[in-house]
Amino acid sequence: MSRPMVDLRGVYKSFGTLEVLRGVDLRVRTGEVTVVLGPSGSGKSTLLRSINHLEKVDRGHVSVDGELMGYRRVGDRLHELKERDILRQRTHIGFVFQSFNLFPHLTVLDNVAEAPLSAQRRPRREVYPVARRLLDRVGLADKADAFPRQLSGGQQQRVAIARALALDPKLVLFDEPTSALDPELVGEVLDVMRDLARSGTTMIVVTHEVGFAREVADSVVFMDDGLVLEQGPPAQVLDAPRHERTRAFLSKVL
Ligand code: ADP
Ligand code: MG
Repeated sequence: MSRPMVDLRGVYKSFGTLEVLRGVDLRVRTGEVTVVLGPSGSGKSTLLRSINHLEKVDRGHVSVDGELMGYRRVGDRLHELKERDILRQRTHIGFVFQSFNLFPHLTVLDNVAEAPLSAQRRPRREVYPVARRLLDRVGLADKADAFPRQLSGGQQQRVAIARALALDPKLVLFDEPTSALDPELVGEVLDVMRDLARSGTTMIVVTHEVGFAREVADSVVFMDDGLVLEQGPPAQVLDAPRHERTRAFLSKVL
């Protein structure tokens, strides 16, 4: 593989005595969509959080676009980056959560504009037109002045996606973006994600939506008990899984 967008090598992470990641290797190519499947508690959220250094891994390393996350290499030693530099690294990575996490006191437009205004200190006359274009892209141009509580869950999650795109990220991480939604609202969010995938955005999506994985993913990863048990094209992992654990999981979610 040419230089991958995301490269995890031998990543370990424990919380106290609980080993949550037990030697994860994962590579994600630029422009590709990787869907991560796996049972609850298998370490999927911890994996995503480790990629943008919201979790500091105990062993192994994570790089994004060739840059080591959280550290700087000096000779053969690693120096931890300062908080400011870690925040700078994170500006290249969008994150969409299950629970939307919008700012309730800001309008939809201000939610999308917030990071470029405050983290990047860019001028409002530059930021607002871009924010409006992003809202248009997720089909919510007419909701710019609404507050999050006035929107449906599906609309709020589409705002969260627009917000995740506001800093023009190299990579967007999704952690079960449709799990908190009423079933009839899932489709509109998946549609936005499908458009994003078609536009060449590099995405890692933790989801139980196997249909989305089949249709949109370039690569499907199955995680179990802190390990990547298998990774391959959707047809391989979903239709001809090599591991019994993958088969057992799929028989429950399909
Ligand atoms: P998944 O997203 O696959 O459901 P998680 O990565 O959220 O799995 O969690 C894996 C395991 O790690 C779970 O047992 C969870 O309770 C535990 N865990 C996750 N975060 C923490 C934390 N900050 N402190 C302690 N335990 C945690
Ligand atoms: Mg999770």
